[in-house]
Amino acid sequence: MSKYLVVGAGLFGSVFAHEAAMRGNQVTVLEKRNHIAGNIYTKEVEGIQVHMYGAHIFHTKMKNIWDYVRQFADFNHYVNSPIANYHGEIYNLPFNMNTFNKLWGVITPDEAKAKIDEQKKAVLLTDNPTNLEEQAISLIGTDVYEKLVKGYTEKQWGQSATELPAFIIRRLPVRFTYDNNYFNDPYQGIPIGGYTQIVEKLLDNPLISVKTNVDYLKHRNLAADSNTKIIYTGMIDQFFDYKLGALAYRSLRFETEVKDTDNYQGNAVVNYTDSEHPFTRVIEHKHFEFGKGNKGRTVITHEYPQAWHQGDDPYYPINNLQNKTLYKQYTELAKLKAPNVIFGGRLGQGSVKNLV
Ligand SMILES: Cc1cc2nc3c(=O)[nH]c(=O)nc-3n(C[C@H](O)[C@H](O)[C@H](O)COP(=O)(O)OP(=O)(O)OC[C@H]3O[C@@H](n4cnc5c(N)ncnc54)[C@H](O)[C@@H]3O)c2cc1C
Repeated sequence: MSKYLVVGAGLFGSVFAHEAAMRGNQVTVLEKRNHIAGNIYTKEVEGIQVHMYGAHIFHTKMKNIWDYVRQFADFNHYVNSPIANYHGEIYNLPFNMNTFNKLWGVITPDEAKAKIDEQKKAVLLTDNPTNLEEQAISLIGTDVYEKLVKGYTEKQWGQSATELPAFIIRRLPVRFTYDNNYFNDPYQGIPIGGYTQIVEKLLDNPLISVKTNVDYLKHRNLAADSNTKIIYTGMIDQFFDYKLGALAYRSLRFETEVKDTDNYQGNAVVNYTDSEHPFTRVIEHKHFEFGKGNKGRTVITHEYPQAWHQGDDPYYPINNLQNKTLYKQYTELAKLKAPNVIFGGRLGQGSVKNLV
């Protein structure tokens, strides 16, 4: 029997803890928030499962993962079909024939392709786009870029599209079919009753002990026993006290409110793609579960992107060369200085496979 200390009760840490305990190992899970489930945490408000850290839609192309997760919850048949609001004009996402028809009145895929080609040729672009703006225009033309990409992306990353690297959008979800399903994955849905129950069930094992409100970095002595292996799902730069410098992240602020109406916006996710609205998305949670909840009530969340400062939640690692290089240096440091620690999850990028 081995002993594990798992830092972070998000999906990665909880799946690891579950699998380790199922193999007879003893696991302590530490979580600095006052609840388990990490960013997939959902909470019932007005009979509606509210996604407290932004919209989360489960999707995978792997049948074994789909079968695995459904041991812990039944899933509904929700299909992610966000819409975009650009100054009150509504467009379907991802960019598809419905979007192109609304923009240009085109009917056939050939007409849509011709329109995009015409727009690409009208602006002087090199064959090698040097920034996100050029890359986006070379993929979908100027109209889609101006109305649906530019404002949203600049709000999301807090930078002008001409300063952002092209590789962020090597591919854009573009379809020449009338198909509003955002994901290509064959399996997707929302757990009936929310995500938190999945994590509760994962951690429900006599060999697992869970402590919330504990920041491991302030209690490193909890793994003083050298036989204890650590699974760390927090920020790798913070683990090393920012010794090589701070990695760059982007943060978010969520404003959640109850509205006295049955149906506020008619869709779970509406992206605001202009630059005037300071938020990127409005989520109406009841639509993830097809209108469940108390009569005459709905819960909505505005999602505001914001600069990240030490102490804020690090929602998105910044995807640029400097950050990637620094992250790699931290992984090298981890191999040398922390051989007993497995860095995993969204911020550590490890995989549970074959670790236990
Ligand atoms: C806004 C948003 C929307 C998303 N939407 C989707 C989606 O629709 N579909 C999808 O598949 N994925 C989505 N994702 C990604 C998804 O959230 C993650 O892949 C998944 O939740 C990651 O799980 P995790 O365990 O790696 O990390 P997290 O959920 O971040 O869990 C890590 C946990 O570790 C804790 N922790 C960190 N440091 C310490 C410490 N020092 N001591 C103790 N505890 C610590 C944190 O508090 C946190 O609870 C989205 C992400 C965001 C930010």
